[in-house]
Amino acid sequence: MLELFLLQIALFSIFPLYFTVLDGPLRRVSYYIYIALVLLIGGFFGNVYSLPVTADITVSGGNICYGAFMMSSVLFVLVERDLFILRHLVRLVLLVDLFNALFSNLAAHSLSHQGITNPHNTSPALFDISTPFIILGGVLIILELLTLLYSFEKLKKYHFNPVVTGFCYILLFITVLCIDGIIFPLLAFGFSQEIINIVFGSLDGKILTASAYAFPLILFTLIRRKSFISYLSTDDFRWTLLLKTSTQLTEEMSEQETYREQADTVFKHTDEGLAIVDNQGKVLRANHALCELLALPISTLLTRTDSIFSLFTYPQRSLELQVLRTLPWRGEITFGDKHHGLLSVTKVESESSKPVTFVLSLVNIDEQKRIQAKLNHLARHDQLTQLPNRRVLDDVIESLQGKAFGLLVVDLDHFKDVNDSYGHAAGDTVLRTQADRLRLLNDEFPDDVLGLSRTGGDEFAILIANLPLLKVTQLINAIQHRLAQVIPLNNQVEVYISATIGASFQAQGENRDLLQEADAGLYEAKRNRRGSYGLYEERLTLESQRKLTVGNKLKQTLQESKVQVYYQPQYCAKTERLVGVEALARWHDDELGWVSPAEFIPIAEETGLIEPLGEFVLKRACEDGAKWIAQGLCELKMSVNVSAYQLRFGQFITTLNNVLKQTEFPVRLLELELTESAYIERENEVLPLLHQLKQLGVRLAIDDFGTGYSSLSYLSKMPWDTLKIDRSFIIGLPDDQEQCKLTATIIKMAHDLNLDIVVEGVETREQLAFVAQRNSQLIQGYYYSPPLAAEALIARIRKEQTSQ
Ligand code: C2E
Ligand code: MG
Ligand code: MG
Repeated sequence: MLELFLLQIALFSIFPLYFTVLDGPLRRVSYYIYIALVLLIGGFFGNVYSLPVTADITVSGGNICYGAFMMSSVLFVLVERDLFILRHLVRLVLLVDLFNALFSNLAAHSLSHQGITNPHNTSPALFDISTPFIILGGVLIILELLTLLYSFEKLKKYHFNPVVTGFCYILLFITVLCIDGIIFPLLAFGFSQEIINIVFGSLDGKILTASAYAFPLILFTLIRRKSFISYLSTDDFRWTLLLKTSTQLTEEMSEQETYREQADTVFKHTDEGLAIVDNQGKVLRANHALCELLALPISTLLTRTDSIFSLFTYPQRSLELQVLRTLPWRGEITFGDKHHGLLSVTKVESESSKPVTFVLSLVNIDEQKRIQAKLNHLARHDQLTQLPNRRVLDDVIESLQGKAFGLLVVDLDHFKDVNDSYGHAAGDTVLRTQADRLRLLNDEFPDDVLGLSRTGGDEFAILIANLPLLKVTQLINAIQHRLAQVIPLNNQVEVYISATIGASFQAQGENRDLLQEADAGLYEAKRNRRGSYGLYEERLTLESQRKLTVGNKLKQTLQESKVQVYYQPQYCAKTERLVGVEALARWHDDELGWVSPAEFIPIAEETGLIEPLGEFVLKRACEDGAKWIAQGLCELKMSVNVSAYQLRFGQFITTLNNVLKQTEFPVRLLELELTESAYIERENEVLPLLHQLKQLGVRLAIDDFGTGYSSLSYLSKMPWDTLKIDRSFIIGLPDDQEQCKLTATIIKMAHDLNLDIVVEGVETREQLAFVAQRNSQLIQGYYYSPPLAAEALIARIRKEQTSQ
C-alpha cells in the first residue's frame, strides 16, 4: 500500500512542481485550476477510501488532497512572491467549498429521489456530506495557510542562511499540516476521550503525509534555488491586499501590467542603448538602440560568448568585469569606431525569476564631446587668428618653470594706423596674415619654436627653446623678415607692417617672469627704433619701475600745476639780437630732483599725460608772451613743442583756439615745433591738420631735423616755415669735415625750400661762426643762453635793452 500512497503523493506533486517553470500568466492559471480541482476532489476522497499504508498507519484520501492543496499553495506563493495571488486563493477556497456543499447536497438528494436512473447503484451516502464540516474545513485551511505564510514572513526578516530558513519552513509546513489533523476532528466531533484517542491514534498517518509533501518543497528550494532566494529577499507581503475588493485587485493587477508594458516600450524605443546582462557580461536582452550604437545585429549580441564589456575601452584599457564590482558604476568610455559613450551599469534584483544581474545603459556623447571640445577651444584660442590665447601661454610657461627656455614678444608696428585708416576689416586681415606667417615657424623651426600665442591686440608671443644667442637673433631676423612682407588688402591696397620684438630667457632652475621681461625688452626696442628687437636686461625692470614712479609723480605735479616753463632764447645770427624763445617744460620734484623732459615727455606720451602737459605749456607760454607785450617789454617769437600724440589723439585745434582766445597772444608770433614722427606714414591724417594750423596764422617748425627719417619728400610736401637743425650736427663743427658738409647741405637745402633756419645747440663761437657764414637765421644754444625761468629771461632782456 506504501507504493500506492507514494504514487498518489508523486502524482499530486509533479504538476505544481512543473508549473513553477512556466511563464507568469500561464503559471497562475495553471495553479488556480489545479488547486480548485484538488480541493474539489478532496471533498469526496475523504469519504471514498482510506489507505492503510502500514499495519499501524492509515491515511485518508481527504488528507492526501488536503496535503496536496497546502503544498501547491506554498509553491505558488514562493514562486509568485506576492500576496496578491493569495487573495484569489482565499476566494477560490470559499467558492469551491460553496460549490462542494451545494453539489454534494444536490447529488445526495438526487440519488435518493424515486425514479432517478442510477445504473451503478451509487449510494446517496457517498455525497451525504455535512455542510458544516465542509465550511469548517474551508475556514481551517484558509487560516492554516495564512498562519503558515505569516510565519514564513516573520522568519524571513531574520535573514538567516537560506538553508536554515528553508529547513525551518519545512518544519513549519509539517507542523501546520499535523495541527490541522488534530484540530479538525476535535472541532468537528467534540473533545470526547474517544475522539481524542482516534485523533492521536491516526497522527502517524498525518505526519507521514506532511513529510511526504515536504519533499516537493525541498526539491523546489534545491532546483529553483535562485527563485527561493529571491523570495527571501523580496519586500514584505502586503497583507492589506487580502482586504481589498476584486475590482481593486484587478485594477492593481492591470496597473502592474501597464507598468510592465510601459517599461517594455521604453526599453524597446528609447534612444539609450540598454541591455540586460548576466554576471559574466553575457547579453540576455538588448534593445534596438544598443545594436545601432554598437553597429552589431541583435543576434550577434545575444550569441557572443565574450563579455559585452570587452567592447568598451576605459580609459585606455578594456573594462573588466572586476571594475563592475563597485556598483552602480558610471563612466565615460570609448566604443566602436572611436565613439565616446557614457556607460552606466546597475546591479538589479529582477522581478522575474530569471537570474538577471546587471542593467547596462549606453549613451553616445560624441556631440557633447564635440561641443565640449569646441568650448575648450574657444576658451583657449583667439577667434580671429585661431592661435592659442594668453591662458594657454600661461599654462605652457607654468609647465616649463625651472627649465631653460626663452620667450619672444612680437608687436606689430603702427598697427593702429591700419585700423584707423583702412577700417577694422583691414586690421583683421593684417592680424590673420601675420598670424599665419608666424604659424609657419612651427614647420620651419620645429625644434626651436615651442609654442605660439596671441597675447593682445597686435601682440604675439613665441616660446622658444634654450638657444644660443646667434640662433636667437637669426630666428628674430627670420620672423621680422617674414612679417615685413607686403600684405594685400581687399580694396587693392597693400600695406607693410614691420614688427618690433622683445626677448627674454631663463636658465635651468630659474623661475623668472619672462613675459614681463620680454615686454620690457620690447619697449626698449620700440623706443630705439620700430622694427628692431630688444633683449631683456635686468636694468630694464629698474627702468620700468622708474617709469612708473615718474608717471605717477608727473600726474600729481600736473594736477597741482607745478610744472614750470623755461624759455631758451633764439638769437638772430646777423644782428645778434634776441628775437625769439623756445618754451621748454621743466619739472623739479622734491624726491627725484630735476627730471629731464627727455625722460618725462616720452612717459607722458605713453601714459596720455602729454595732452594736459602740452596744453599747460602752450597756455603758460602764450600767457607769458602776451604779458611781455602788454608790459611793453618786447615782441618775441614763441616756439612751443607739440608732440605727435597731441596731434593724433587730441582736439589740438580746439585747444589752440581756446588758448589764443584766453591769452590774446598774437597768433603770428606763435611757432609750433613738430618732429618728423608726428607725420611720417600718417600723411593723410596730418596734412589737413597742418593746413588748418597754417590758416590760423600759426608758424610751423620741423624740430630735430636730421635725427629721424629726414625725408626730403615730406619736407617739401608739408607747409613748414622753419627747419631746426638738430644739435647732433653741430657738436662736431667745425672740425668734423663730414658734419660740416652735412650741415652745409641741410642749410642750403632749407634755403632752396624757402625755409627759415634755426640752429640748435650752438655752444661755441666757432660753431656760431660756421653756421652764421652759411646764412642761418636763428641761433639757439648755450653759447647765448641756456633755457631760463621767465624772471631770468626778463632780466636778460632788460639788460640787453639797456646795453644797446
Ligand atoms: P628740443 O625741442 O629739441 O629742445 C631743445 C633741447 O636742447 C632742450 O632740452 C634744450 O635744453 C637743449 N639745448 C638747447 N641748447 C643746447 C646746447 O647748446 N647744448 C645742449 N647740450 N643742449 C641744448 P630739454 O629742455 O631737455 O628738452 C628736451 C626735449 O624735450 C626737447 O627737445 C623737446 O623735444 C622735449 N620737450 C621739452 N619741453 C617740451 C614740451 O613742453 N612739450 C613737448 N612736446 N616736448 C617738450
Ligand atoms: Mg623743440
Ligand atoms: Mg630740437
